[in-house]
Amino acid sequence: MTAISTYPDVRNYIGGAFVDAGDQKHLDVYSPIDGSVISRVPLSAAEEVDRAVAAAKKAFPAWSATPIKERVQVFFRYKTLLEQNIDELARLVTAENGKIDSEARAEVLKSAELTEFACSLPQITAGEVLEVSRGVECRIERYPVGIVASITPFNFPNMVPNWTIPNALALGNCMILKPSELVPLSAGRIAELLREAGLPDGVLNIVHGGQQTVEAICDHPGIEAITFVGSTKVAKIVYRRGTQNLKRVLALGGAKNHLIVMPDAEPEMTSSNVVASMAGCAGQRCMAASVMKAVGKTDHIIDKMVNIVRSMVPGKHLGPVISREAKEKIEAYITEAEQQGAKVLVDGRGYVVPGKEEGYYVGPTLIDHVKPEMRIAQEEVFGPVMVIIRADNVDEAIRVQNRSPYGNAASVFTESGGIARHVMEKASAGMVGVNVGVPVPREPFSFGGWNDSKFGAGDITGRGSIEFLTKPKKMTTKWSKEAGVNWMS
Ligand code: NAD
Repeated sequence: MTAISTYPDVRNYIGGAFVDAGDQKHLDVYSPIDGSVISRVPLSAAEEVDRAVAAAKKAFPAWSATPIKERVQVFFRYKTLLEQNIDELARLVTAENGKIDSEARAEVLKSAELTEFACSLPQITAGEVLEVSRGVECRIERYPVGIVASITPFNFPNMVPNWTIPNALALGNCMILKPSELVPLSAGRIAELLREAGLPDGVLNIVHGGQQTVEAICDHPGIEAITFVGSTKVAKIVYRRGTQNLKRVLALGGAKNHLIVMPDAEPEMTSSNVVASMAGCAGQRCMAASVMKAVGKTDHIIDKMVNIVRSMVPGKHLGPVISREAKEKIEAYITEAEQQGAKVLVDGRGYVVPGKEEGYYVGPTLIDHVKPEMRIAQEEVFGPVMVIIRADNVDEAIRVQNRSPYGNAASVFTESGGIARHVMEKASAGMVGVNVGVPVPREPFSFGGWNDSKFGAGDITGRGSIEFLTKPKKMTTKWSKEAGVNWMS
């Protein structure tokens, strides 16, 4: 068995230095792979948030006044550093989150892609200018909003912080990052690489903690905007509390993503893509499909899925889920569905990886003949579990899907362009796909769901994030000496 590394106590990062969070309580950080304690994370109080805001405010005048073409030079270097350090960054993700190596590497590469987009922001945000009447010119320039906080979840310790960091900073803001207390290790390394890339001290600060720290962020008058990514329950809390305090808030919540599989779908590609969507990252992706609507005669595709799922080995092809509680909760959903009459085709309950008996593994699970009203079909399970709901036609499948309060992603597998277009139009979700199990929009397209999967306007990445992270200033100038040159002079 490979020994799991341990790491020194996690520290906050304020004004360019790692600092202790005063006398705060610490939480143990566990490796989901073997249940061992690998570090400790401080639960920072409001004073630590205050210190971080003070550091960010100190850095803001010089950073925001630096021309954007100069600011993005930091991100060209940061992107190269992410690539050069991918082995170590992926190892950190695996240590704290449990992902298998290929998934952890993919996460770091996605961070590099997000950074690449930030490098193009000077080209994208070049201002608009127009002579609106003779000698009178209007132009728009974008200004940073100020201090932006980002509160992130456990499932992408490297990528989700990088949803906000490169764009927010390249656009001239300073930042406070509050990583998930379950996976606090990657953030410190991100800060070190940014410092190595030339980011001035205080532009990015990290305050670790949980609920109390988040509440202090929502209440702090020095923070102008918050991006949040996590469960819908907490997204609502942060959205309400942040906007109550007159901040801009963009809060991405949980998901229950549906796939529609039509009888004409290409069997090999469909079965492998559907399984990869539900089992990748142990089902802990907000874009993971967890409900498949099998329309009509699709048993030949389901049989192939069963074969693929049976061949998957936890510990090798998929990692553990995040905690013992998560494992127990996921297994309880499966048991309840079975008791209510669903048929468990492949059962991942009670899975033990030899040599990692204390790890939080759930084997990939397929459950057929699930009814739309069962809890497992409605609630976010967040594990490697796919429920199959039978439907007679595509409209019945769409109706089931659109009854979900969530609206992150939806996909259809078919060879028919007409059916594909119909599902894309009718699905009540922010990100839809055809013949793709995980319809994540790649840069420059932006990321964000609908309904209870996102609160606030705009999206969190790509072009959709620019409006949220900047304030447009509208400038009207007249250099013509003629009086009365236009009706609004
Ligand atoms: P979570 O909501 O438990 O935690 C997210 C953040 O909120 C963490 O930093 C945590 O410290 C903080 N937090 C937790 N409870 C809080 C409370 N009561 N008050 C204030 N702050 C609190 O989410 P998680 O379990 O870390 O992540 C998994 C969830 O995130 C899933 O629901 C998943 O779908 C969702 N997610 C969504 C997206 C998306 O793009 N929509 C992306 C990734 C993850």
